[in-house]
Amino acid sequence: MTAGYRALGTAAALLALGLTSMNAQPPGDVQKAVDAAYEKFKTLKEGKNADYIPALAKVDPNLFGIAVVTADGKVYTAGDVKTEVSIQSISKVFTMAQVIQEQGLESVEKQIGVDATGARFNSIIAVEAVRTVVGSGAPEMNPLVNPGAISATSMVRGSNADEVWKKIIGFHNDAAGRQLTVLQDVYKSESDTNQRNQAIGALMLAYGYIKNNWQQAVDLYTRQCSIGVNARDLAMMGATLAGGGKNPVSGKQVMDAAKVPGVLAVMATAGLYDDSGKWLYHTGLPAKSGVGGGIVAVSPGKFGIAVISPPLDDAGNSVRAQRAITDISNALGGNPYAARK
Ligand code: GLN
Repeated sequence: MTAGYRALGTAAALLALGLTSMNAQPPGDVQKAVDAAYEKFKTLKEGKNADYIPALAKVDPNLFGIAVVTADGKVYTAGDVKTEVSIQSISKVFTMAQVIQEQGLESVEKQIGVDATGARFNSIIAVEAVRTVVGSGAPEMNPLVNPGAISATSMVRGSNADEVWKKIIGFHNDAAGRQLTVLQDVYKSESDTNQRNQAIGALMLAYGYIKNNWQQAVDLYTRQCSIGVNARDLAMMGATLAGGGKNPVSGKQVMDAAKVPGVLAVMATAGLYDDSGKWLYHTGLPAKSGVGGGIVAVSPGKFGIAVISPPLDDAGNSVRAQRAITDISNALGGNPYAARK
């Protein structure tokens, strides 16, 4: 355990070093890479909107926006970066971060786990497979799949739902650098059809991951998934993580820099669900997708990048977002595993 924390400390130091190198990136190169990806993928028609939440099926599949925000606060965009979609699973990152900020890195590791499940994001078999090790200190679960995410939401402290919600939305607002709102049509649509997540919430209580009030946790989880964001918001949230927890435009320290590498590690492990390994192989970037069509990725010390495009592949990840982010990050030398020149 102590060695683990030492490693995280080292990563935070490396991240600080990285900040200097991104500032050297010529702005023209970044905009060129963003524009090139936009042109290359704007006509790509693969994938399909999520439809298990009825409101998501109605979102314009042609919506396509790209934003890069550097760790020193420069913003580069292409396409539609104003239209909001629901944040969906990307909220899992920020609620996890809120719990880590409030209760420490160990809390999430012990109570939920930080390992890949190798299963789909709403798998119930994955819950069954790990329930025997709850309490052993190492559940094979994580806060970026639904069971772990609903559990993370249940861990946010507060004496009533309102208090917990204020903290959740507050953390998202601070990371995005503006006041975000819930897309009520999505919230209603998902609340009417989220029986599977309710079942998962009840199971997580039964198996000890959730300590009380699973109904409140599922409702707040559903609400956090319905927060409206545009591509610029998501990139800003990514840049906040890229810059050691500090929003590069507002200057607000949203979370402790020493805790950010833990958040990024879970994103690298499980951010694109059962396709996380494949994603990491091609980009090296901690990232998170949502079934609303967004993906945010983080190049530590360098930039946050986000793309919104609703059509998804079979794993539930936006097709165009994966392609565009891969191209742009590789053009900018964003892969943290590559040797720095
Ligand atoms: N709200 C969605 C759900 O619970 C989030 C899933 C996702 O974005 N992968 O199913």
